[in-house]
Amino acid sequence: NIQLNLNVRGLGDSATLAINQTSARLAAEGKQVYKLGLGQSPFPVPPSVVAALQAHAAEKDYLPVRGLYALREAVAAYHRRTQHLDFCAENILVGPGTKELMFLLQITYYGDLVVPSPSWVSYAPQAQIIGRKVRWLATQEKNDWRLMPEDLALFCSEDSSYPRIVILNYPANPTGSTYPAAELKALAKVARQYKVILLADEIYSGLHHQGQHVSIARYYPEGTIVSNGLSKWCGAGGWRLGTFAFPPALQWLLEGMASVASETYTSTSAPIQYAAIEGFADNPDIDHYIALSRRICGALGRHITKKLQQADVAVATPKGGFYLFPNFSAHAENLRARGIEDGPTLCARLLDETGVAILPGSDFGRPREELTARLAYVDFDGGAALAALAASGNHP
Ligand code: PLP
Repeated sequence: NIQLNLNVRGLGDSATLAINQTSARLAAEGKQVYKLGLGQSPFPVPPSVVAALQAHAAEKDYLPVRGLYALREAVAAYHRRTQHLDFCAENILVGPGTKELMFLLQITYYGDLVVPSPSWVSYAPQAQIIGRKVRWLATQEKNDWRLMPEDLALFCSEDSSYPRIVILNYPANPTGSTYPAAELKALAKVARQYKVILLADEIYSGLHHQGQHVSIARYYPEGTIVSNGLSKWCGAGGWRLGTFAFPPALQWLLEGMASVASETYTSTSAPIQYAAIEGFADNPDIDHYIALSRRICGALGRHITKKLQQADVAVATPKGGFYLFPNFSAHAENLRARGIEDGPTLCARLLDETGVAILPGSDFGRPREELTARLAYVDFDGGAALAALAASGNHP
């Protein structure tokens, strides 16, 4: 009698994809839905990247499992150019989305997975699928939900011999926070001291709102894997292309992951890889597109933050990406009077009564009773916004 693998039982669809399906169904039924659930870039893919995809639409071959060499070179050059990180093509693994690469990583190593709470929805379910226990490290609202170096140090010192990978994602999904350089240096120092491997999930690196994104790999190059891809700053989430960059000391992990890839998906789609070479290229048009996107995300984030704060909802101004993580607890009493006692109920009722689709903080590792939620402010016409800003001349 064949049964469902226990690790898969109860998983359901990923929370962000599920809210997207629900939103689409309600919209199809004629309901006005504000799709602030799924974190999909509102911006169109830059024209030169689309043109590269079209030019290679007939490419039909299986490509090398680690990725096209020219793409690996382009990705290494991107990391050198944007972060002064000393990667070469051999250090790069290309995959069909960083989500898939993260799953490969989970399959490939022994040890703990340490994830700050709140964190992106899929890290923990991926661990569950392969039977790995996730160690959640709570962060605090007063610190903008950033992982504090002393908390990481305390955690690591409790069992310093155990091998572990810590995921650090910023600009962050779900909170929109980033780390100042001093904190990155302090986190890097702790990671080095306890020989922790860091997975720096930098998929939103291009969409920091002000100043420069700084990779923690600058401060801990020997122990940091840098994750990036086309999904967010290049607007091409549905194309599925992600990249991991490994320091030489962790090349064994790249090789292990490549073996698993070769026995599972073989290689990333050829046309997408050719297009990605263009996406990662040193191209002023793409820099301009990213600069405009950042500007729009920053301005919108500040505007919505202000509106929410005026409505007595606690929320920090996002520093990057297109997410906010409001806390509705100032309204707890009123909500309780309406039968709303926890985050999931709050979000379900919001969708039902107002058509606003957002996700409860519990989908991101927060306690169910907490009245936090993630709001992805992406339900607007990004192409029109880019065109209007470009035409205004009011841009960098
Ligand atoms: N990491 C974070 C923090 C994300 O928000 C996402 C997508 O929403 C991903 C990784 C996965 O991106 P992809 O698989 O499209 O590269």
